[in-house]
Amino acid sequence: MEKELVKISGLSKSFKGFKALDNVSFKVFKNDVFGFLGPNGAGKSTSLRCMLSLIKPDSGSIEIFGKPLNKNRSEILKNIGSIIEKPDFYTYLSAKKNLELIARVSGKNVSRSEIVDILDFVGLKGRESSKFKTFSHGMKQRLGIAQALMHNPELIILDEPTTGLDPQGIIDIRNLILKLSQQQGKTVILSSHQLSEIELIANRMVIINKGKTVIEGKVSELLNNEEMLVKIQVDNPKKCLEIIKASFDQISEAKAMQEEVEMVMNPKLIPEINQLITKNNIRVFAIEQKKKLEDYFIKTIQSQN
Ligand code: ADP
Ligand code: MG
Repeated sequence: MEKELVKISGLSKSFKGFKALDNVSFKVFKNDVFGFLGPNGAGKSTSLRCMLSLIKPDSGSIEIFGKPLNKNRSEILKNIGSIIEKPDFYTYLSAKKNLELIARVSGKNVSRSEIVDILDFVGLKGRESSKFKTFSHGMKQRLGIAQALMHNPELIILDEPTTGLDPQGIIDIRNLILKLSQQQGKTVILSSHQLSEIELIANRMVIINKGKTVIEGKVSELLNNEEMLVKIQVDNPKKCLEIIKASFDQISEAKAMQEEVEMVMNPKLIPEINQLITKNNIRVFAIEQKKKLEDYFIKTIQSQN
């Protein structure tokens, strides 16, 4: 059985009457790369800050490692590594010196050789002695992750770690997260406002929007390739829909819009459907397929702008 590592139930938090979190619930299991997805302002950072006990929720419960956070705060936090805000480092000190200082100040018992190993793990080998100010944005982020890993935590929380990175920087962070999960058996919670980011590395995910949980589940099920939203742009959507419905019963959520027919189906059927409607003198201008969740997510974000 999968071991439950985090259980968030009915979390709510208001700032001066504004509901930033409204009954948010989700679960994270051991060894998950858990995607925490939502558009800007959805409440991701607020949720993560509650989990790290940086702010107090108005209501709801947070259990981590099987224990309530409010009763076992320091014991739980010892076993979590995170980057929530931009990690703070001394610009004139080297990567190694920065980590040594953090280890000393926070009372974390980490040896110099362990620090070198961690820097190697995050891909900063050879740059240990370079000053922080000479680092690229991607290297700074990786040093942030190194700092989060220093006390060998079981759970790692990364709040939008790839924001502002160039494509190579994004790939580096992605590979690092996969390594943490696959080689070290860590559990990672990764927030992002981009579905593509989550889709690539997470095994489970939750979407939040306007402080509310929208959907939660396995990425492979939420984003499966057999149930796609297919849109066919035609000259007569109503007639086209009738023809399709009369011959195919494997489609669902079918609707005729002003210029197109929209339905959920296995995309393998597209050629047959195309043939059928063309034979029935329907003129086809375009056929487009999208993952249901992708379509939903785009609409969610668009409705915000
Ligand atoms: P996300 O991380 O998903 O972009 P946040 O959790 O940062 O979203 O913010 C959710 C909402 O709560 C936003 O509308 C934001 O402006 C608001 N908010 C967050 N923190 C505060 C705060 N300390 N005071 C007032 N409003 C806040
Ligand atoms: Mg945020």
